[in-house]
Amino acid sequence: MKLNATHDPARRSWVESANAPGCAFPIQNLPWGVFSQGGGAARVGVAIGDQILDVTALEAEGLVEPAPGGRVFGSGVLNPFMALGPAIWSATRAQIADLLDAAGGARDLPLLAQADVAMHLPIFVRSFTDFYASREHATNVGAMFRGPENALPPNWLHIPIGYNGRASTVVASGTPVRRPLGQLKSAGDALPRLGPSEKMDFELELGAVIGTGSVMGRPVSTAEAWEMIFGFVLLNDWSARDVQVWEYQPLGPFQSKAFATTIGPWVVTREALEPFRVAPPAREVDLLPYLAEGTHRNLDLHLEVDLARGGQAARTVARTNARHLYYSAAQQVAHHTISGCAMEVGDLIGSGTISGPSLDSCGSLLELTENGKRGDFLQDGDRVMFRGWCEGGYRLGFGPCEGVIMPAPEAP
Ligand code: CA
Repeated sequence: MKLNATHDPARRSWVESANAPGCAFPIQNLPWGVFSQGGGAARVGVAIGDQILDVTALEAEGLVEPAPGGRVFGSGVLNPFMALGPAIWSATRAQIADLLDAAGGARDLPLLAQADVAMHLPIFVRSFTDFYASREHATNVGAMFRGPENALPPNWLHIPIGYNGRASTVVASGTPVRRPLGQLKSAGDALPRLGPSEKMDFELELGAVIGTGSVMGRPVSTAEAWEMIFGFVLLNDWSARDVQVWEYQPLGPFQSKAFATTIGPWVVTREALEPFRVAPPAREVDLLPYLAEGTHRNLDLHLEVDLARGGQAARTVARTNARHLYYSAAQQVAHHTISGCAMEVGDLIGSGTISGPSLDSCGSLLELTENGKRGDFLQDGDRVMFRGWCEGGYRLGFGPCEGVIMPAPEAP
């Protein structure tokens, strides 16, 4: 996609808070979310400065009309709008940017303070697939679980490794996360036991939101896959490491990842992120042609993890960047369809934990604490918050993606 007027760094909004240096939501961002006020119905909105533009109301007033003669913003999720495809996403973004542009002067638009609304899941998640695209993370985890000589599985440099996760437990930022029960078996135990996970962890990931589907039986190219992506969200793929290490062979993670996945409230569009595309890490071996990319689709996206423990102030425990990912979201989606597997509107594609080359750039406590040797896993009451932003003349923020750990339930 070529850059257009919506990416112009000189553009300003008449919503003054959007022009403040470092604001997460300048007029160049315009991320999509779903909100409600005072217990009312869920509505679709776009963030601008410290406000939300009520797009459900804009559509009702006829100020935007992405589906002439019909409504797509009345259902409280982005799926009907996403299904209209990239040309309509782009035209609507341009229209909203024009409505908010300082050059046109202040207008009487339905704006609400973000502080006064509750945010919800922005999409109906049709399916959730989680990949494993950070070479550093795969190497660190492999070394711990299988030894340094078997750290990177033999297929890893050829296949974007993934597994089919659970859409039913994808939750909005701020939803408390209950510590899971699971089968636990330590190295010295003869038999497994049932108990609350003692190694509960976060995984710092980026989620790609599929906006248009593909046809069963027809693989898509990486270029087509990129066009199918509506946008990206921060994603916490909560994990129970002790459950995982006992259950994961031979079919991969199951209950260790199924209890909760938190996504951030704002979907930052692929179009808004276009100026921040960068080259992927160097390839050690050539990829098969169906995974090749003629262009760069990694994102220069700064990421941070804050941890607040026992009511104490939050401290930043990891700083990294999505540019370290070995496989782009487009490569993951292309691989996902190579068998003929269909993609659907509202599918969520997790990148895999994003770790960088240094210890403090690792995206999980498994790595940051070296499997508990240099610190604790998550405790009840801990609050984990992810932040993400691109920087380049202006800042594109994602808004916080957070959750608090609740005690485990009683065993049935
Ligand atoms: Ca994961």
